[in-house]
Order: sequence, then structure tokens, then C-alpha cells
Amino acid sequence: MLAARRTRPASVAGGWELPGGKVEPGGDPAAALVRELREELAVDTEVVGRVVGPLGGDWPLDDGHVLRVLRVQLVAGEPLPGVAHDEARWLAPTEVDTVAWLEPDVGPARAAVERIPTWVDFPAGALEGRARALRVEALHDGRVGVVVDRTPFHPLDHGWPDQPGDVGLLDGARVHDCLTGTIDDDGRLLVGDDIDVRRGDPARTWVVVHVVDREAAPVLGESVDLAVDGAVRAALSRGHSACHLAALALNEATARFWSKQPPRRDSRGFPFLDQIAIQVSRIEPDGAYDAYRCGRSLRKAGFDADAFLAEREAVAAEAEGLLSAWVATGAVGRIDTGGDPTLTARRTWRCDVPGGPAVIPCGGTHAPDLTHLPRVGVEYRPTDDGFEQRTSVG
Ligand SMILES: [Zn+2]
Repeated sequence: MLAARRTRPASVAGGWELPGGKVEPGGDPAAALVRELREELAVDTEVVGRVVGPLGGDWPLDDGHVLRVLRVQLVAGEPLPGVAHDEARWLAPTEVDTVAWLEPDVGPARAAVERIPTWVDFPAGALEGRARALRVEALHDGRVGVVVDRTPFHPLDHGWPDQPGDVGLLDGARVHDCLTGTIDDDGRLLVGDDIDVRRGDPARTWVVVHVVDREAAPVLGESVDLAVDGAVRAALSRGHSACHLAALALNEATARFWSKQPPRRDSRGFPFLDQIAIQVSRIEPDGAYDAYRCGRSLRKAGFDADAFLAEREAVAAEAEGLLSAWVATGAVGRIDTGGDPTLTARRTWRCDVPGGPAVIPCGGTHAPDLTHLPRVGVEYRPTDDGFEQRTSVG
């Protein structure tokens, strides 16, 4: 959340506000906000929603005006104070009370915290954390969903549900599952399969939902201790890293079955069969299941699926040879977040294996290095409309 410190008029100088400005009678509030932010803080923004207040959606002011709080997405620039402000500061969810807000901005600022997406620490491998319970809500199944400002838990992605959600403890009580949720401008929380928009839609706030028993629900606003089950996480991380390595080995070992330029190549320069044909991916403890479709369009693109399937055992042996050479390097795996700490950041898994780096967009968790994978085996089996790949670690 962006806070800015006013320089004028004297009555408000030194106080912090949610930046904005006055809308002329008949003017459009969204256009006015975009204009004010450009003039006062030199940033280009786009309005994506609002923070709804108690006065028909607005917030009270004492001079006959109301405060309308809109949420924007930063399009370009970094906030640079002009004449109206002498400082602009980004506040993390936990830092909302660290600045002296002008009185009318206190309520909206606190409400805005609930519209900040959950900050996630699982990309860096975190297993523990302490956070504030921002939302505690009954779910369909009689259990309770807990949203916090910041978490080490990895949630199941609703759009591409490959890696199961983490399990663990919240204040010592069992977290049975961890799901992706969204909050809309009316404050409604939608969880898992109920989410009706694509991943990362800026109109929604994207949050991690920890599923606990009703008796274990924390008190709203209080701090909670979060602890991920490290053994379950580690086994899923090994399965996930093995899954991505197996995908790249599949690409390389099947390169000779392409008769034309493939529509896409992977980070190592091989035809990206994995991404072109994948239908389903399930990360399991120490393994993965992937289903691929070999339809007419793949054949037209130049991939000879019949020849591949006829030779699938030799191809699997070739892929396993690549995998054992890669694993033997013990290469470090890391997740780039681009500096974005939120749940829906575009993250990328990178691992420098011989012959070209493994680089795959990925929202999951991974083994810290390849010494955690003693051996990676793959098996390909024909299915009704293509083939499936079973990957196993150890
Ligand atoms: Zn992944």
C-alpha cells in the first residue's frame, strides 16, 4: 500500500494519506485519481477496484465531501513526491500502523490492508512464519478458512492445480489444506473451484486460505504462528523438481520425432513437447503424473507421436540418461519472483543443468538443489488420446 506525507495546507502538513485528490463536480473519480497520481507522484496507474466504506461505499469526511478509495495497478514509474508531498512510502501489510495517518485516512488504510494480496514466503523455501489473521470465515465443508497477511504455506492453484496445498499447523492446530482464494470489491471471499476469474485478475485480491477445524479458528486481528509440515513439503518439492526435469528430458529425447520447426522451444533450445501437449499435471510426494494429448494439431505441427510411442522404452532410457547426468551435478534450483512478494507474482524456476539452463514458469515449491534427488525415473504409456508420463524420485 502506498502512503504519502502531505506538505500543505498547514492544517494537514506532516500527516500521511492515501494519495489522491479532489474530484470536480460532474468529474469522473477514476480519471481524476489517475490524473492526480500522475501529477503528484509521477506514476501511471489504472483503476482496478475500490476499498468499500460504510457511507454507500464511501468513507466519511467532515467538510461535506466523502472519501472514495479506489485500488489501482501501477502501470509505469516509481512514486516520486512532487510539491504536495515530501515523502512516499510503500507499506507492507504489517506496517499499516507505522505512519501517522490523517484522521479520515485511518479507517480506509486499515480496510485497504485486507485488499493487499497475501505475501508468500514459500518461493524462498520458508516453512515457518508469524502473521495476522485478516479474515476468518466458514467454508462449505464446515471448516474454517483463515487468511493472513503473510504466510509460508503454498496453496493449491485453482487454475492449474498441479501441486497440492501445504498442510501443517496454525497456532498448533491442524491446517488440513491450503487453497487459493479471491476477495472482490463487495468483500466476498471465493475459494478454490468457486473462483470465477483467471489467475491474477487485478480486479480481485488474491489470498492464501488455510483450512482449519472450526474449534481451531483464530481470533480476527490476532497474531498466529504458522508451521508447514516440512516432510510433506520436501517430498512434494522433490516431486516438482523431478517433474520439471522430466519435462525437459522428454523435450530433448523426443526432438528427433519432429519433422518441422516446432511452435515453441524450451529454455535449452529443444522442441517444447511438454508445454505444447500437456493436459494435466499432478505433483505427488517424490513423483509426478503428467498426461499429454497428441491430437491432429500436434501431428500437423510435425510431431510423429506414433513413432515416439513405438520407441517409448528407448526414449525413456535416453531421458533417464539425461536425468542422471543432470542430477549428478547437484545443481542449485531457485525460484525468481522478480521482487514481487505476492501470491500471484510471475515466478520462474531455474536450475543450471548441463547443455543449457532449465527455466520454467512455476508457482510451486522445489528442492533447493539436485542432491535431494537421488535418481529420477520416467515411464511413458500410451493413452486413448496421447500418452502419460510417470516420474519417480529414488
Ligand atoms: Zn512447476
